[in-house]
Amino acid sequence: MSKYRGPVCKLCRREGEKLFLKGARCFTPKCAFERRGYAPGQHGKSSQFRGKRESDYNRQLRAKQKARRVYGVLERQFRRYYEESSQRRGVTGLNLLQSLEARLDNVVFRMGFAGSRSEARLLVTHGHFMVNGRRTDVPSMQVGVGDSVAVRDGSRRRTYFKSLPDVAEARGVPTWLARDIKNLSGSVVRMPERSEIDGNLNEQLIVEYYSR
Ligand code: SF4
Repeated sequence: MSKYRGPVCKLCRREGEKLFLKGARCFTPKCAFERRGYAPGQHGKSSQFRGKRESDYNRQLRAKQKARRVYGVLERQFRRYYEESSQRRGVTGLNLLQSLEARLDNVVFRMGFAGSRSEARLLVTHGHFMVNGRRTDVPSMQVGVGDSVAVRDGSRRRTYFKSLPDVAEARGVPTWLARDIKNLSGSVVRMPERSEIDGNLNEQLIVEYYSR
């Protein structure tokens, strides 16, 4: 599955807020948004947020782009998530966010086994994780209630994973997931509720964008 390969910090600057796409660096003064908190491009400094009245379309587009960027999903796949969510029972917006949260790379990140979703994606792609005891290298794989996620035995002796229990300990884990930090494993207890998903995302606007 392809992924965005351009400059990452530019995405935060385009959305006008920190999206925390680079893990630890986002919390340091090196964060590009801290240094240049305006839109990228020649007219970025003068054009963004300068009393311009934002159209409904633009608000919907920005909400969709932000969610896509936070989860590292390209347009075609994101639209597929929306279409599947709209066909499922329940509220489309919540279904959509739950599908994004249930991605294997996101679950690995939420369990604290990676500092960012992009790092989690890389670790999964390199085959360091097992789902229900089977090795997988598909970051977009949907993980369901009761599924277990664990670092593969062969990967545990790697330097990164040797030091991981100490590093991951400091990272909290949401209540919809269970984590066994010593065994570098965890499981999905239930699907997340809306209050447990990033409050800065506006799923209503995303639904409006796709139902135009
Ligand atoms: Fe965004 Fe992180 Fe880059 Fe800062 S360092 S601009 S929060 S990706």
